Amino acid sequence: MLLVIPADSRRRKRRIFLLLSAIVIPSAVVILLVFHVVRQESELSERRTAEAQREALEQLRRELSARLQAIRLEEVNRLIGEAGSRLPPDSSIVFVARMIQDHMVVPWEDNRISQPPAARFAQIQAEGEALEFQRNNSAAAATAYGRALEIAHTPAEKCTALMLLGRAFRSAGRTADAERADRTTLHECATVADDDGIPQALYAATRLLDIRSNDGETEDYVIRQANMGRWRAPNETYMLQSVLRKISNPATTDALNRLAAEIHDMELITALAQSLHDQLGKLQRATRSAPGDLSWMGYGDEPWLITIVSPTSFAAPVVMAVSSRKVMPAGVTVQRAQSSRTVPLGDGFLDLHVEWPEGRFATRPGMPVILYGAVLFVVLGTVLVAAYLLLRDMHREADTVAMRAHFVASVSHELKTPLTSIRAHVETLLMGRAGAPETTTEYLRTIASESERLTRLVESVLDLSRIEQGSKTYRMQSTSLGEVVRAAAKTMEYPLSQLGFTLTLSSDNSEPTLFGDADALKQAILNLLGNAMKYSGGARHIEMRVGSAAREAFVDVVDHGIGIAREEQVRIFEKFHRVQSAETAGIAGTGLGLALALHVVEAHHGRIDIVSAPGCGSTFSVRIPLPEFL
Ligand code: ADP
Repeated sequence: MLLVIPADSRRRKRRIFLLLSAIVIPSAVVILLVFHVVRQESELSERRTAEAQREALEQLRRELSARLQAIRLEEVNRLIGEAGSRLPPDSSIVFVARMIQDHMVVPWEDNRISQPPAARFAQIQAEGEALEFQRNNSAAAATAYGRALEIAHTPAEKCTALMLLGRAFRSAGRTADAERADRTTLHECATVADDDGIPQALYAATRLLDIRSNDGETEDYVIRQANMGRWRAPNETYMLQSVLRKISNPATTDALNRLAAEIHDMELITALAQSLHDQLGKLQRATRSAPGDLSWMGYGDEPWLITIVSPTSFAAPVVMAVSSRKVMPAGVTVQRAQSSRTVPLGDGFLDLHVEWPEGRFATRPGMPVILYGAVLFVVLGTVLVAAYLLLRDMHREADTVAMRAHFVASVSHELKTPLTSIRAHVETLLMGRAGAPETTTEYLRTIASESERLTRLVESVLDLSRIEQGSKTYRMQSTSLGEVVRAAAKTMEYPLSQLGFTLTLSSDNSEPTLFGDADALKQAILNLLGNAMKYSGGARHIEMRVGSAAREAFVDVVDHGIGIAREEQVRIFEKFHRVQSAETAGIAGTGLGLALALHVVEAHHGRIDIVSAPGCGSTFSVRIPLPEFL
């Protein structure tokens, strides 16, 4: 079997294929290019970020090393002599501690002033304590301590005796004497500690506060001690903390906070001293492996940066801890734990990882990507719109081709029908078979009407070709629209009556006169009237109204037929367009009537309005502006 594909359809397919390749291929290339550029851009920005991060890390390491080196040079030598003193709160150094044979001497131990008492003093003190605790004779003990005070030579002896005296007096019930002794201890023994590292004054303060909880002088002493910047023994710190808690003074809050921080540091230092071997083994090895360069190690939760320094080649090394918070640039933090947001600080720094502030290396890759996206969107959007318009045009063109073919068939049919009718009537007349004179008249009228239809059809085709060539002209002159309408009605009277139609013509008596081409206007109205007749379905009544309103002349052609769907109401004015539906099937037509009518009306600067709905009939309203001067 031979399959024959019509040339038209082949050409159409080829054109669609060409069109699609002209759109699809360049679009695909554009998309690929944009994706490629965007990927390259993002790779480049990732590389730039990595590079910036590497540089920043390098710079940070350099700055930090220089800073720490400066701290070491300036501060360490000065501090070794007074390792026990706490540095001011704004200092970057947390502590400096001597090392003796690989053991770290905690700073507060360096502070200890321990001078053994004279033998005589110690003997009297022992006698007093025996009386006080073994014989429970506080009064006798007080006398012994009094003697000890008399022979006391050093501040330590004096303060010990005073403190013991206060205690014994209190047990013996000599309250006034006890208070006097305790107050003297408070004034004179703030810096003299016992073997446990607790200042004698603090014992006196505890007793004074036990008697009078709001003793201003004692409170001042305790708060002053708590705020004092020096390393103190843990025992003293804990005792100070418990004494402070007894005082109900707002100033204690700050002091208590300070003590809590101090206890925290102290515990960390104690732990470091205990695990020095493990903690600093690595550090020492690292320092030894790179002599001259300091190595630093993270310790604690802040963390501290700790190192071992030998101030001079012959002096004992010291451990130095620097607060990382105070030496790091703003926003940058170091921590010991590694996480997805940190990078190792690198050479010379053990267990230390940097965390950069959020967005520090954020390049702005979003901008170009958005830009490319927008360009891509615009290009593709334009291409798609163009493609849609082109395809629609092609579709329309194809439709027009199909319609033209249909038009030729319709015109042939439309020509044939009246010709056949004319011929049949003429032949009957020629053969003298018409019979009665009324029948002859009837035949002749039919022949005239059919000839008129033929003329109209030929006129329509000619008009179309004139319009398409732009040579259609109108003979404008003063015209009565009422007369034009009546002439059209007259023309259609016979065919209408033949099909059983009644036509009502009404007027508002305004008799509008306009400047127009009467023949063309009549033709346009005849087209509307012809349609009303063709598309009336079962209805058999048509109305025509003529008149003027709002400076416009109007002619309404009203039928009660099949009506027109909303979406078709614009398209029916396109040439060759015919509504395809069950109701219109079998109704002959060329699809030209309305296109020509609209052309005529628009040539008169008018318009045609439609009010219609399927099954409810249609009203076509020709509206032409009335001239000002008529
Ligand atoms: P045709 O020769 O097909 O009548 P027209 O241009 O006069 O061509 O009309 C275009 C189409 O509009 C018709 O095919 C018909 O479907 C529709 N149409 C026109 N007038 C009416 C009407 N009064 N009622 C319903 N449909 C109509």
